[in-house]
Amino acid sequence: MPTIVKAYGAHSATDKLVPLEIERRDVGPHDVMIAIRYAGVCHSDIHTIRGEWGPIAYPQVVGHEIVGEVTEIGAEVASHSVGDRVGVGCMVNSCGQCSYCLDGNEHYCEKGAIDTYTATDVDGTITQGGYATHVVVDEGFVLRMPESIPYEQAAPLLCAGITTYSPLARWGTGPGTKVAVVGMGGLGHMAVKIAVAMGADVTVLSRTLSKRDDALAFGATAHIATGEEGALRELKRSFDLIINTVSAPLDMNAYLATLKPQGTLVNVGAPPEPLPVQVFSLIGGGKSFAGSNIGSIKETQEMLDFCAEHSIAPETELIPADAINEAYDRVLSSDVRYRFVIDTATI
Ligand code: NAP
Ligand code: ZN
Repeated sequence: MPTIVKAYGAHSATDKLVPLEIERRDVGPHDVMIAIRYAGVCHSDIHTIRGEWGPIAYPQVVGHEIVGEVTEIGAEVASHSVGDRVGVGCMVNSCGQCSYCLDGNEHYCEKGAIDTYTATDVDGTITQGGYATHVVVDEGFVLRMPESIPYEQAAPLLCAGITTYSPLARWGTGPGTKVAVVGMGGLGHMAVKIAVAMGADVTVLSRTLSKRDDALAFGATAHIATGEEGALRELKRSFDLIINTVSAPLDMNAYLATLKPQGTLVNVGAPPEPLPVQVFSLIGGGKSFAGSNIGSIKETQEMLDFCAEHSIAPETELIPADAINEAYDRVLSSDVRYRFVIDTATI
């Protein structure tokens, strides 16, 4: 018999999130049951539950920044034990057999990785996310949480952390590289902290000066208010790498102009609208416009260990479950410093 657990979710794209109950499957031989303690609020949760990325089935529970403790393990689970502090991010399974899975790139699985919410699971049910008291996940998609990362603050690493760590690592961030981070929200503030820890010289490109003190405190060397006339023009040929974390469309050509020749702009922000690019913005300087989606499980563990080693933790505001709707409004008005985390004991 599946376990019925308490959660917060929506019954339609326009409804507010409300308390509801969902089923979690029986713990199979390779499964881990986790009592969720904290769940981060990602902007993707909002895009998804409001149907901005396309229609989904309701009722739906979102949340893919999950930390908690193992309460039960399947008979063949070797990698986790009852009582372990663990995390779950944006995916909960993949085919395990295609060349991408076999190469440790299961987030680019040939059949599509099974997302933590809104995806069709191996048993045909729709996956339900982390705004809940418990979740059952295949052991291969469960991360070890280093004890030194403050428990209440750790959850956002499971999406915001890996989504920024992965492109920073892939495009060679380190001493001597000049990196710009566009938009300093949940993802952006992690990008700044991680790029600084990798040794880069980091500039924050934010709309106003309101986050300037924070950006400098996170280790950035400069903070530019892009809302000021001419701000980007003055930055021509400045950066080796730009990570764009903005959740809305921007003039990509203006940002591409701030790359040095042969530089790369990686888009991780995921607005539903297209981002038009003039080819001359790319070919003149041999520049690249790229995208990146979360990161593999192996790389997520590497990121968690990197953050523990460098004493990096997300900046969070802990909220009770009944404050989720207000938190969504505050994310949309950029009134978050820098990630809401739900205390799931209040669900
Ligand atoms: P967030 O906390 O809302 O941060 C987004 C930031 O973008 C804001 O803090 C703001 O920064 C800036 N911004 C917002 N609206 C803007 C506008 N109209 N014009 C210019 N700048 C604007 O969101 P998040 O959770 O970091 O997520 C950011 C995006 O990444 C979302 O689209 C999300 O779905 C996507 N995402 C992608 C992946 C992936 O794997 N690729 C993973 C997770 C999330 P300033 O105030 O500094 O300007
Ligand atoms: Zn996310």
